[in-house]
Amino acid sequence: MSNSYDLIVIGAGPGGYVAALRAAQLGLNTVCIDSRKGKGTKPALGGTCLNVGCIPSKALLESSEHYEQLQTQGLKSHGITTQGVELDLPRLIGRKNKLVDRLTGGISMLFKANGVDSIYGQGKIVSPTQVEVVDPLTGKPSQTLTADHIIIATGSEPTSLPDVPFDGDRIIDSSDALDFSEVPRRLVVIGAGVIGLELGSVWRRLGSEVTLLEAMPDFLPEADRQIAQEAKKQFIRQGLNIKLGARVASAAQQKDEITISYSSNQEHHTEIADKLIVAIGRRPFTESLLSPDSSIALDDNGFIVVDPQWRTSVSSIYAIGDVIGGPMLAHKASEEGIAVAELIAGQKAALSYDAIPSIIYTSPEIAWVGRTALQLKNDGIQFNEGSIPFAAIGRAHALGNTTGFVKILAHSETDRILGVHIIGPQASELIGEAVLAMEFQGSSEDLARTIHAHPTLSEALHEAALAVEDRALHRVN
Ligand code: FAD
Ligand code: AMP
Repeated sequence: MSNSYDLIVIGAGPGGYVAALRAAQLGLNTVCIDSRKGKGTKPALGGTCLNVGCIPSKALLESSEHYEQLQTQGLKSHGITTQGVELDLPRLIGRKNKLVDRLTGGISMLFKANGVDSIYGQGKIVSPTQVEVVDPLTGKPSQTLTADHIIIATGSEPTSLPDVPFDGDRIIDSSDALDFSEVPRRLVVIGAGVIGLELGSVWRRLGSEVTLLEAMPDFLPEADRQIAQEAKKQFIRQGLNIKLGARVASAAQQKDEITISYSSNQEHHTEIADKLIVAIGRRPFTESLLSPDSSIALDDNGFIVVDPQWRTSVSSIYAIGDVIGGPMLAHKASEEGIAVAELIAGQKAALSYDAIPSIIYTSPEIAWVGRTALQLKNDGIQFNEGSIPFAAIGRAHALGNTTGFVKILAHSETDRILGVHIIGPQASELIGEAVLAMEFQGSSEDLARTIHAHPTLSEALHEAALAVEDRALHRVN
């Protein structure tokens, strides 16, 4: 293996591995360095997303949803009753682990197939064109690589609360919360954001009493208000105990439990738990990445500063994904990776930050793209709104799931779609059509004149588009 490359990518998460693959497709001699190990001792590609993020959390959401449905006679209306439903937690977790192994292994295979060199180790940038590969355990450098270009894709790590330190056993981060060996009786989650809600849902479905303590007074403040209201109603109905305006300050460990102290309405409260998940957000990960004399600029929160073409303050070095901030999403990281690989290969590249879908994989699922009604009002933009409940859609009835609605916001003069908000069955899949419509600068009329197959859930988008001009057909206007 030569030490000289066109491109060195540091980090093999969805940002880095996708950048490396695209660069190789474009003929760049590429190496990707990653320091992560999987459950065994083997290096594991795929970053946070494949190892302890998107994929394992979705595996657990899927399994736990099946369990709850059988456990609560959720199929009774279909004429199917169940008896003797049992939870085999080691097997459920084992399935998740196997899936992670399969997919992380798949990236090694893709690297080989595309001629991307893959090196295990910690990348340390020692000059604008040089990266030292360091053994993460000993801290000793093993080799120095050179390249014309470097992409930093080192991602993020869970944020901790100063007086609630992680201990890997009772006070844990989102990674450890994917691996409980038994279902905790009382589970408290700090933070009712996307990760807190998804993990809280998994363990509630498997039998925990779950309390979410959220500092903000509003539920899901980044979501459309009507959607957030509906989501909160559904989650409370399912048994999630959501306390808003509850700011956690500290947690004290007793022998068998944890006492969590929080303030709410200027009063002091406590909550007792067997396990405590801290899910208060993630921070950029740049530990051991930069040499002390590096001139790569970081902002006040530790994110790497980049220009609109993802260049850092050192022109040969780019940065993408969670480490540069913005929405901490795998698909955002990957698209930035593709864009930067194409720029380095001499192509033009741009990314539609206005059309990045956000999804919460709870039940009901929540998905949106573009701006909310509140954001449009605050920006003084006039818009029309069309919404339709899933109860108006035949396929939702066949599914036995008519919870939620689709809402489309379109410019009042141009009719251009400015935002689409969905809560309900398969919202995560349905949002794709809305993203495409926005990417093509489509109007609500474009959606309204597009033929949607019947009977499908996508008809909810069609009807919501018709509703923008008060001409929905399957509800009384
Ligand atoms: P990462 O995936 O964090 O990858 C960075 C990699 O770089 C890591 O493997 C790290 O070990 C390695 N690294 C760091 N420093 C060095 C170094 N110096 N040398 C070598 N290697 C280094 N996003 C979604 O879009 N959808 C979801 O459903 C979703 N669910 C999530 C669920 C959970 C529980 C969590 C925690 C996150 C979830 N996310 C989801 C967020 C998503 O995982 C991240 O946005 C995404 O992984 C960011 O990709 P990245 O490539 O920037 O960084
Ligand atoms: P997200 O940014 O989606 O990962 O969500 C993290 C959530 O944690 C946000 O909604 C924060 O308001 C919340 N949060 C942050 N610090 C605290 C705290 N000390 N107590 C309770 N909630 C918090």
